[in-house]
Amino acid sequence: MKTAKPSPDAPGLHSGTHGEVHDHGHARSHGGVERASVESALAMAEAYCRERGEKLTPIRRKVLELLLASGRATKAYSLLDEMRQIHPGSAPPTVYRALDFLLSAGLIHRIESINAFAVCHDLTQCQHGILVVCQQCGNVTELHEPKLRQALVAQIEAAGYRLAGDGIELKGLCAQCQESQANSAVKTAQPGAAGTPEAAAQSSSVIVR
Ligand SMILES: [Zn+2]
Ligand SMILES: [Zn+2]
Repeated sequence: MKTAKPSPDAPGLHSGTHGEVHDHGHARSHGGVERASVESALAMAEAYCRERGEKLTPIRRKVLELLLASGRATKAYSLLDEMRQIHPGSAPPTVYRALDFLLSAGLIHRIESINAFAVCHDLTQCQHGILVVCQQCGNVTELHEPKLRQALVAQIEAAGYRLAGDGIELKGLCAQCQESQANSAVKTAQPGAAGTPEAAAQSSSVIVR
């Protein structure tokens, strides 16, 4: 089965001295990011908005908080459900407007491949990296490899294109999901059960926007 793991000889795709890998899904197994780091991230985002002359209103803050706590890409309707548990009257436009604001402020990413939203690892000095998105569970990792990114953009421009946005998104299958697939394949013992056809195909697709 083809895996989503970067091959060891792919330059820049692993953390090293030239870059860091920031894993949004880091605290996943603990049920999201810890409370203290959520609070400090919110305080950072608040200060950042203030500097820009904008306001992290309670609703924007709440949506950001939900995304921080989930620690992975989350669909708008799940966010709306969660909002409704807190504020029963929450209407979809409220949540969408808050998401639009957070997007325009660069605090979150729209994850096109699974139609969801994830917090940018870097809430303030946002130099967006290359996003690797688990198509199964929504885990998002942002690779910070400015040289790799520049090289990619240069190639895209050499081909006569201009990126439609600042997001570069790679589809993948995270380590946990690869493991659970492998486990279920052992249980069912069916040939070819190790990976869904989509998962295998997705590991090599690139979305550029
Ligand atoms: Zn980012
Ligand atoms: Zn996953």
